[in-house]
Order: sequence, then C-alpha cells, then structure tokens
Amino acid sequence: MKFQPKASHFINGEYVEDTNGAPIDVIFPATGEIIARLHSATAEVIEQALNSAKVAQREWAALSGTERGRVLRRAADIMRERNRELSILETHDTGKPLQETLVADATSGADALEYFGGLAASLTGEHIPLGGGDFVYTIREALGVCVGIGAWNYPTQIACWKGAPALACGNAMVFKPSETTPLSALKVAELLIEAGAPKGIYNVVQGYGDVGASLVTDPRVAKVSLTGSVPTGRKVYAAAAADMKHVTMELGGKSPMIVFGDADIENAVSGAILGNFYSSGQVCSNGTRVFVQKGIKDQFLARLCERLAAAKIGDPLDESVTFGPMVSENQMKIALSYVDKGKAEGAQLVYGGDRIEGDGFYMQPTVFADVTDDMAIAREEIFGPVMSVLDFDTEEEVLARANDTEFGLAAGVFTNDLTRAHRIVAGFEAGTCYINTYNLAPVEAPFGGSKMSGVGRENSKLAINHFSEMKTVYVSMNDVEAPY
Ligand code: NDP
Repeated sequence: MKFQPKASHFINGEYVEDTNGAPIDVIFPATGEIIARLHSATAEVIEQALNSAKVAQREWAALSGTERGRVLRRAADIMRERNRELSILETHDTGKPLQETLVADATSGADALEYFGGLAASLTGEHIPLGGGDFVYTIREALGVCVGIGAWNYPTQIACWKGAPALACGNAMVFKPSETTPLSALKVAELLIEAGAPKGIYNVVQGYGDVGASLVTDPRVAKVSLTGSVPTGRKVYAAAAADMKHVTMELGGKSPMIVFGDADIENAVSGAILGNFYSSGQVCSNGTRVFVQKGIKDQFLARLCERLAAAKIGDPLDESVTFGPMVSENQMKIALSYVDKGKAEGAQLVYGGDRIEGDGFYMQPTVFADVTDDMAIAREEIFGPVMSVLDFDTEEEVLARANDTEFGLAAGVFTNDLTRAHRIVAGFEAGTCYINTYNLAPVEAPFGGSKMSGVGRENSKLAINHFSEMKTVYVSMNDVEAPY
C-alpha cells in the first residue's frame, strides 16, 4: 500500500508493531482507496510507550533548555525541508487540498517546533526578595509524562502544537492521533529522532477511543492535552480529574461572525469563506453563524454565491484545487444530515447542499440564509462546509445572540467602526476573537476556548504554563524563631 508505514507505532526511537491490535484502515478521502493498514495499540504496546516515556523524561529534563531547544529547532528545519513530502502525506490522510497542506500543516508544525525551541533556553523561575535578607526562588519544573490526543482535521499541526511546548519544558509525550488520520504523527516522531531527540521522549501509539482512555487513566501520566469534541472532552477531563492531572482541552465550537452594514463586503465575504469552507469546513474555530446586518443581506449573499462558484472542487493533489473531500464518509453523512435538518426547519438553501457523486467523500460548499437562532444548524457544531446566515438589526441584539451558545471558541466582527469593533470584542464570550479577519492561528498568539470549548491555551508563552509547574523554595538567612 502506497503510504504503509514501517509499523503502526513509534516507541523508544523505533517503529513497533503488534498485529494483535484491531486493524485501522487508512482511507484516501478523495477516492475511498485504502492507503495503509495499521493496528490499534494493545495493552503491551501502551505499556511499552508509557515506560519508555517515563524513563526518557528524566534525562531529557536534566538537559539544559538550550540543548532541548536546539533539538526542536533542528526538527523544525527538517520539517520545512520535507514540507512537500509531508504535505502530500497529509493530503492523503485528510483529503485536504495540497494547496492548503503546503502552507498550513507541516509549516504550522514547524513554527511550533521553532517557537518553543527558541523559548526553551529562557524558561526559568524567579527570585523573590523577602524582608531581612530572606528570599524565595521558584523552579520551573516539567510535569513528567504528558499524553496528547488528536483530532483528524490538523494531524501534523496538533502533534506539534502539543509536542513542542511539552518537550521544550522537559516533558516526554505519548501521542495518540485520531484513528482516521494516523500517519503524519509517525513522521513527526521520526524526524525528532533525526534531529537528535533522545529515544522515548516522543512516542506515537495508534488506536481508537479506548486507547486514549487507557492513556488518560494511567498513573504515570501527569497531563493530558486533548483536541476533540465537547462530549469526548467531558469524558477525558473527568477521567483526568480523578487523579488531579493537568489538562488542556481544545474542543468544538459554533462561533459567530458578525458583519455590520458598514463593513468592507469583499473582506467580510473572504472572512466568511475562510471561516466556513477552508479544509471543507472541518475547522474547530469556524465562524459558522454568520450574522449579517439587514441592509446588506442581499449584497452579501449575492457576492458570497458568486465567489463560491469560483471554488475549484476536485482532486486534492492537484495544486489548483481549492476545495477537497471531507475526511470520511461518516463525516460527510453527518454534514449532509444537517443540510436535511436545515431544509426541514425552514432555512433557505441559497448555495450547494448536495453530495458530489463519485467514490470520494465530496459535498458542495453549502449556504443557508434566513436561519433562526433555534434551528439545529445554528446551534450544533456540524464540522462540515455548511454556513448559516442569520439576519440582525442592532448591535445590542446581535451581541446577545452571538453569545447565546454553550460554546466559546472563537468570534469575529467585520465593521469599519473601530470603536464598535473593540466594544463588540470586549463583549464576546470567546477565547479567540478576530476584527476584520478570521481563522488565523499564529504560534505567537494564545489559542483556545472558553465556556464548553475548552480549558487552557495552546501556543504562545501561555502554553508553557500548561506544560510546567512551579516549585517554591523559601530560604531563610536568619535564625528560626519558634514560640517555645
Ligand atoms: P473526537 O472527540 O471524536 O475525538 C478526538 C480524539 O479523542 C480522537 O483521537 C479520539 O479517538 C479520542 N477519544 C475518543 N474517546 C476517547 C476517550 N473516552 N478517552 C480518550 N480519548 C478518546 O473528535 P474528532 O476526532 O471527531 O474531531 C473533531 C472535533 O475536534 C470537533 O468537535 C472539533 O471542533 C474539535 N477540534 C477542536 C480544535 C481546537 O483546537 N479547539 C481543533 C480541531 C478540532 P477516536 O478517533 O479513535 O475516537
């Protein structure tokens, strides 16, 4: 098979196989062709991965930050050199167009490796003077063995966004990719070894939810970082809480994008396209509730439909293709079922809505107008290319409606009134906000959600606090005074 790795898992610096594990077929979403067959981790494989991480972590943490950072930065360089090869693999694994994977996957992973590699040498505690010469110093310590569990939409990026800060802080990682997209994390593990990482500090085990669950509950694990849906997040957070483990939860969303009458329509349409149809709509922070002020509704919809007609749907390996298949038949069926719900609930289908016949899992970019707040397509995360356009009159009204959701991942506003833009953003109940743009996630800025969309932040200096903890040391320079 075309993309068959040497073995399913990568543990202690080498590929490991155990064919007793349940088979995992890797499918190219554009054709339905099986491109690799892997096996889910058995209890023995999980044991091997956790043990090797536990042993390797101590030595890794004992290196200087400069030494750890050098490995990560080398890995970033290798990743960039292999960008095309890794992007082709990512396109086969996910179905996302090569035009996207070339600029948004391995490159984003490399950014994380470079950024956290750069920070590693400057991770320190602090000195806190007390009265009379006494003082406190703090030591920033690694947490130990961290587990990363990934979703299928950005497999390389997720493997690096979790691995890079974990390793920079001196932790070891056991990473479980989604079984839908298991291939690229193995490449991340391989190239870290090539960059000089000690064996065992970044291990990959494949598997379904049960493998994730065994990792989360293992007493050797100090932290769990999950990217996934809210229902999975609830289970994983609860399991981690039983042992008071640290968590980062990057979960789902149903984010609002507000377009005021004074906005630059062309930019707002571009934002709505990026925030609904990039990666065939399979992006957690997508602005799938597009609130458009009444006066510009017709103009906005007309221009949106015109622009969507220019999307080139086809073979994702063709670099001119801009819209690819969905990741799996199942995910396509879920998205199509929401098209049926939208129609049944009385929303107006203004663009797309159909499956594209063939072997691949393609559906058209889809837009509903006249959507109301209570409809399922406006309340539930679809995770597919289905945009809901809702009308609004006033600023006060739209902000209340935008926030009326259990989710709080992202939110965006398009307006030329900057005072209003900042007022709206101050009122948004969301972790990541955008003014006159949408869906950017540079490594330098914190990324994450509030409310049901998550706990903690990835990227930026803030991620360091989620992969390390402080030890406080009191030092007395004076006699100890005791009352008796
Ligand atoms: P899921 O929640 O279904 O799965 C996420 C991961 O968790 C998978 O690897 C899954 O394994 C694993 N898992 C499932 N059950 C358990 C369990 N009980 N214990 C431990 N691990 C478990 O999400 P999807 O893979 O379908 O991804 C889509 C979701 O991810 C969307 O809701 C999306 O919004 C969210 N997401 C959030 C992002 C963010 O940064 N906030 C970014 C990208 C996606 P398996 O696949 O085998 O079930």
